[in-house]
Amino acid sequence: QITFDGVSKKFGENVVLDDLSFGVAAGERVTLIGPSGSGKTTILRMLMTLTEPDSGTITVDGDNLFQEMRNGTLVPAREQHLRSVRRKITMVFQQYNLFPNMRVLRNVTEAPVHVLGLSQDEAEARARELLEMVGLADKIDAHPAHLSGGQQQRVAIARALAIRPEVLLLDEVTSALDPELAAEVLDVLRDVAKSTSVTMLCVTHAMKFARDISDRVLMFNEGRIIESAPPAELFDAPQHERTQRFLRSLR
Ligand code: ATP
Repeated sequence: QITFDGVSKKFGENVVLDDLSFGVAAGERVTLIGPSGSGKTTILRMLMTLTEPDSGTITVDGDNLFQEMRNGTLVPAREQHLRSVRRKITMVFQQYNLFPNMRVLRNVTEAPVHVLGLSQDEAEARARELLEMVGLADKIDAHPAHLSGGQQQRVAIARALAIRPEVLLLDEVTSALDPELAAEVLDVLRDVAKSTSVTMLCVTHAMKFARDISDRVLMFNEGRIIESAPPAELFDAPQHERTQRFLRSLR
């Protein structure tokens, strides 16, 4: 349901994506790995139309996310055109980004009420279910600042799932957390992977998690995919020298 076709992006002289093409099927779980700066986060940001490509095409269920201006630059497609995409895709960020002035429950009900038009009661019922799933039923009245990083990240996951997305983008969601808290978050995501059919696109350095949940792992280097394989293959028998070196560096 997601396609990148010939996508390139530079920041100044820095080539971040280099004529990149790949697709992700509905329900597929794909993990992006590779050295820092290889363009992984940029890909997720493009799917949220937070970063524009210089050239190329990105589609979700056939809908173009960007349109070309007369001078050739690409800008996000009209909001009206993006409305259906925005209901389908959601992202969890490294730094949680909860609404700091809203209690936990309201963080989770906000999008269903304002994006999907659910009633407050419906949104609350859904939020309670999700907060239970992420193990935070007892924190619904807490303010984000009073939660641990791991708890905040679990709220962020519940919030993302509250719109019942078709695609969940995860950007290094555990890299700001201590190992123990990271493990809690990864357990929640394993549950999500098991209990839903949501398409998942994850940038992570947690290789055991990647191995557990992924159908396919894409190895990035210098803005290109240099290797793509199921996790058992890519982790146990990497073909590319750069992949071998990268995986060794994580041990
Ligand atoms: P990491 O694992 O460190 O997050 P990454 O593979 O996700 O790396 P990106 O975050 O996509 O890499 O960044 C790719 C490159 O683009 C980096 O060199 C980064 O410094 C640069 N970059 C990203 N956003 C901007 C920006 N807004 N302006 C300038 N340079 C940027």
